[in-house]
Amino acid sequence: MLKPVLVTVLTIVALAIFARTMHRLWSLLRKGKPGFRLPSLGQAITDLLVVVLGQKKVLRWPYAGIFHIMIFWGFLVLFTTIVEMYGEAFQKNWVFPMIGGTWTMAFCQDLFAVLVLVGVVMAAFLRMCVRPKRFEGSDHKDAYVILSLITLVVVTLLCMHAEKIEQGLPYAQGFFAAKFVAAAVPSHMLATVAESAYWLHVCVILFFLNWIPRGKHLHLITIIPNILLRKHYVRGKLTSINLDDPSITSFGANQWPEFRQKELLDTFACMECGRCTAVCPANFTGKELNPKKLHTDIRYSAQKKSAAVLSGKEPFATLAGNVFSEDFFWQCTTCAACVEECPATNEHIDKIVEVRRYMVLSEGKLKPETKQALKSLETQYNPFSLSHEDRFAWARELSIPFVDEKPEVEYLYWVGCFGCFDQRNQKVTRAIVNVLQKAGVSFALLREERCTGDPARRVGNEDLYQTLAKKNIESLNTHKVKKIITQCPHCYNTLLNEYPEFGGHYQVVHHTQFLADLLAHKKISLPREVKEHLVYHDSCYLGRHNQIYAAPREVLQAIKGVSWHEMPRQGSKSFCCGGGGGRMFMEEKEGKRVNVERVEEAVRTKAGVLVSNCPYCLSMFEDGVKSVGAQETLRPKDLAEVVNEAMER
Ligand code: SF4
Ligand code: SF4
Repeated sequence: MLKPVLVTVLTIVALAIFARTMHRLWSLLRKGKPGFRLPSLGQAITDLLVVVLGQKKVLRWPYAGIFHIMIFWGFLVLFTTIVEMYGEAFQKNWVFPMIGGTWTMAFCQDLFAVLVLVGVVMAAFLRMCVRPKRFEGSDHKDAYVILSLITLVVVTLLCMHAEKIEQGLPYAQGFFAAKFVAAAVPSHMLATVAESAYWLHVCVILFFLNWIPRGKHLHLITIIPNILLRKHYVRGKLTSINLDDPSITSFGANQWPEFRQKELLDTFACMECGRCTAVCPANFTGKELNPKKLHTDIRYSAQKKSAAVLSGKEPFATLAGNVFSEDFFWQCTTCAACVEECPATNEHIDKIVEVRRYMVLSEGKLKPETKQALKSLETQYNPFSLSHEDRFAWARELSIPFVDEKPEVEYLYWVGCFGCFDQRNQKVTRAIVNVLQKAGVSFALLREERCTGDPARRVGNEDLYQTLAKKNIESLNTHKVKKIITQCPHCYNTLLNEYPEFGGHYQVVHHTQFLADLLAHKKISLPREVKEHLVYHDSCYLGRHNQIYAAPREVLQAIKGVSWHEMPRQGSKSFCCGGGGGRMFMEEKEGKRVNVERVEEAVRTKAGVLVSNCPYCLSMFEDGVKSVGAQETLRPKDLAEVVNEAMER
C-alpha cells in the first residue's frame, strides 16, 4: 500500500516542480514576437520520419551521430520500461499492455538498454578523452550529470530485470543482459537489490525530468517542435520587415522580446554540440563569432534571470555591446555552414541579421568602410563608388542589345555589380557573353540594372535593400522580363527567392546551370582539351543556400583533358571564401583571413586552377592567392572562363 502512495506523491511533487519550470520557460518564449510558420501535414510527417526518427542531421557527424542515435532510439524503447515501473507500483510484475510480457519485448528492452550504455561510454570518451574544441564553453557538468543519470537508469533497470529472471517468469529469459547481473548477485540478495534499484530508478527518472529544463537537455522537449517549425522554404530567403508599419518603433532585435518566438525556441532547442562553431569560417579563423554561444548566451542571459525579467523587476539583457561584442555580429559571412550542420535545425543567420538590423536601423551603427559601400549603393546603385552611367561600359564593343531595344529576347542576362565594374570579373562577364553568343542564345541586358540589394540586406540595412529591390522589380516588370540568367549566386538568390515577396516573379537560372543545360542540349561543344588540374569550390549561395551542386560538376566533367578534384571541405561542407554577408565590404583584421584559409586548402590539392562560380569568391581568391604567394602555381577562374577556353578551337 505504501509503494503506490509514495510513488504517486514523489511523481506529483516532481511533476509540479517540472511544470513550474516549464511554465517559466513558456512565459519567456511568449515574450517573443509571434509568428510561427506551420508546416504542411506531408512536410511534418517527412520531418518526423527523416529528421527526428531517422536522425538525418545528427548522422552528418558519424561518431557522435551513432552514439546519439543509440541513446535516442534506446530511450524510445525504454519508455516502455518507465511505464512498467509505474504499473509495478500498483501490481507486482505488471507489464506493458499488448506488447509487454513477451520474450521479444524483454529481449528488445535489454538490447536497447545495452545500446544506451554503449552510447554513454562513447559520449563520455568523446567528451573526456577526445575533447573536441567545439565543446569549449559548453556546460560540461550538465553533460556529465546527464550521462551519469542515464547510466543509473540502465543499471537499475537491469537489476530489476535480474530479479524477474530469478522469479522464473517465462518471458524473463529474453533479458539476456540482466542474466549477467543475476549471475553476479547472490540469489538471496536479489530481491533486496531489485527493490533498492526500483526506488533508485524512480528517483533518478524524476530527478532527470527536473534536470532537463535547466540545461542543454531541454532539447529533448523542444527539438521536435523546433524541427517542425523550421523554415521550409529556401534557406537563402531572409524575413522581411514591414517598414511602413507605424506601430514598429525599433527595427531588428537586440533583446530577448525583440526576436520572433521561433528564434527564441531555437535557443531552447540548442543541444550545445558545437557543430555550428566547428564549421564556422569566422570562428575557425580565430574570430570571436561563435554560433553555439549565440544560442546559449541569448538563452541563459534570459533564463538565469527569468523571475526578475518576467516580473518586470529587471530589463532583459541587451545583446550587441553587452552580452556579445558588436564585432561578434559583424564577423558573420552568412555562409550557412552552421545552419547546414545544426542537428536542431536552428536558423543562425536570421538572428545575426536581426541584430545587425537593430544596430544599423535603430542605432545607426555600421563599420566605416561598409558605410561607404552602402552610400554608394544609395547613390550609384553599386558598392564601388563608381558612376552608374558606366555600369555597361564593358559592353560597348560587344553589340549586346538592351531589353528596351529588343523586348522579344528570351533571356535577360543579369550581370551584377562585380561583373560590371570589377576588372577581374569583367573577364568572366565577357566569357559568359561569348558562350551565350556562340550558343545562339537570345538575350539582352537591363539598362536600369542596379545592385539587387543583397549586401545591404545582409549587413542589416533592410530599408536600402527594399528600395533597390522595388526599383529593380519595377524595371524588370516594365520590360516584362520572364527569364533571367545571373552571373552571381548572390543575385541569383535574391532575384529568385527574395524578389517574389515584392512582386518580382521570374525564372532565374545561374550561369553554371545554364552552361550545363547548353551542354546537355548540345547547343555548345567543347572541342579543345584543357590540360589542367582543377579544384572546384562550391560557393555558399549557390551550394548551401540553393542546393546547386550537380550542375557545375556536370560541366567540369564535360571538359576534355581536365583532371579535377574536390577539396576536403566540399559540397554542403564547403568552406566559405569570406566575402558573403557584406564581409566583402568590411576589413578583416581579426584572426586569419578566411580567403587565405580556403586558398591554402586549394594549394594543398596541388591543383593549378581554382574554379568557382561566384564573383565574390573569385575576388577573394585572387586576393588570397597573392597573400599566400601562390600566383605562379594557382590561378582562380570562374567555371565560365574554363568553358570558354574549351570552346575555342
Ligand atoms: S553563417 Fe557562417 S559565418 Fe555566420 S555564424 Fe554561421 S557558420 Fe559562422
Ligand atoms: S546551434 Fe545547433 S549546431 Fe550549434 S551548438 Fe546548438 S544544436 Fe549544435
